[in-house]
Amino acid sequence: MIKPIIFCDFDGTITTRDTTDAILEAFAAPEWRDVEARWLEGKIGSRECLREQMRLVGAGPAELEELIQSISVTPGFSDFAEEFLDRGFPFHILSDGFDWVIERAMARPELARKGLPGRFRIASSHLEIRENFMITTFPHASVHCTHGCATCKPQWIKNESPGFAPVVFIGDGESDRHAIGCAELVFAKKGRSLAQFCAAHTLPFIPFEDFSDVQRELRAALAELASGTLTSPPLILSLESES
Ligand SMILES: [Mg+2]
Ligand SMILES: [Zn+2]
Repeated sequence: MIKPIIFCDFDGTITTRDTTDAILEAFAAPEWRDVEARWLEGKIGSRECLREQMRLVGAGPAELEELIQSISVTPGFSDFAEEFLDRGFPFHILSDGFDWVIERAMARPELARKGLPGRFRIASSHLEIRENFMITTFPHASVHCTHGCATCKPQWIKNESPGFAPVVFIGDGESDRHAIGCAELVFAKKGRSLAQFCAAHTLPFIPFEDFSDVQRELRAALAELASGTLTSPPLILSLESES
């Protein structure tokens, strides 16, 4: 069977809260909220937003590390990731957020115990911490991107998925909107902006609260795919009609 490729957002999806927002709330000069408002109004893209906001942060690595460790992982993530990595599914983490943060968040004991850190492909923004100031770069921004993405999720998905393998996308937020057009199966966290966006535009998606929901629904979709009962367009419509 052709193995689907999993693309998963990080902030607010794998973690329960957005790590960049947590850093800004704790350590940035208050003007970060003005930058955020311009982004939410669509006046700037997430790349420009993050570059400006991180300039306002005054914190060292120890303070950041402590904050990151206080943010919890969405229940069920380690079991979900372990199952599908063990089954040989390519598993990508796509994030506008920062590699320094993601690496530390993923190294926590509940994930390290299962040997999970290091098994994911990660595409994110890059953060370098100097003496109390931050340097940001965006290695996965794309010249083809029209959204101003920090990490252009649709471009990464297009580059990394051969046309025949179904694409599974899991996300929660604003920047995930651009990615869902590349996916056969979309999971959107309940009550967050991606789910609201999909519902408002009648785009098919599966709502989830935690990763045990994603694990169960993805297994069900794969069983249908394997039994050959799915027709094109495959996964989404069949699952939608069940609920
Ligand atoms: Mg998110
Ligand atoms: Zn983009």
